[in-house]
Amino acid sequence: MNYIFRFILVIIFAYTCFAQNDKYKNDREAMVKQQIEYRGINNQPTLKAMTAVPRHKFVPPNLVNRAYDDDPLPIGYGQTISQPYIVAYMTAAIDPKPEYKVLEIGTGSGYQAAVLSEIVSEVYTIEIITELYNSSSKRLRDLGYKNVTCKNADGYYGWKEHAPFDAIIVTAAAEYIPPPLIEQLKDGGKMIIPVGSPFLNQNLILVEKKGEDITTKALLPVLFVPFKRGN
Ligand code: SAH
Repeated sequence: MNYIFRFILVIIFAYTCFAQNDKYKNDREAMVKQQIEYRGINNQPTLKAMTAVPRHKFVPPNLVNRAYDDDPLPIGYGQTISQPYIVAYMTAAIDPKPEYKVLEIGTGSGYQAAVLSEIVSEVYTIEIITELYNSSSKRLRDLGYKNVTCKNADGYYGWKEHAPFDAIIVTAAAEYIPPPLIEQLKDGGKMIIPVGSPFLNQNLILVEKKGEDITTKALLPVLFVPFKRGN
């Protein structure tokens, strides 16, 4: 009897887990269709990666039921995980390829790094807040994102040892484009970075490097948390 009871409990538990996962899978597919594809993003690797990464595992436990909403969400320490559309927009803007080595500044929850990790071969990501570095590097490790390497530092200086990068994604708003990041971009490489005043007038800027030539193009008005300095 005892065994039968336990068996039934195991079945109920397994079914509940399955139903939960399925619910998130549906939420994720709806997020990609309604928030991302519908707004015109059709970079297939980006759509595939956003369908694969379990965003609900990157938000605080009390916000899990809002993980697939069309919003940024707080992740503590005054920081946010970006709105899904913005993550997709920035990912698509660098036109990521499987052989790429990408640098991200502002690991935060680790979500953008995980999305990149599904597409490219190597992701290097830098976070300035030690507590967020600790939690996101553990999360990425636990979820099996083996091609992501994390560092706790001021991302202003980039990551010289691994440069040059095919692409750079900056997820905090800088007042100007840090020159070391331009230096560490490969010839032909692309960087996407929010530039502007804290909490005011920011634009996502696409930077392209062709030899000595650096071109910049404002793509989209945005609102990001400020790029910090120090550490
Ligand atoms: N990409 C993140 C969103 C991050 S919010 C995600 O997917 O969740 C911006 C992050 O940039 C914050 O965690 C903030 O602490 C970090 N940050 C701000 N200035 C930084 C700097 N100079 N170097 C590295 N990280 C920085």
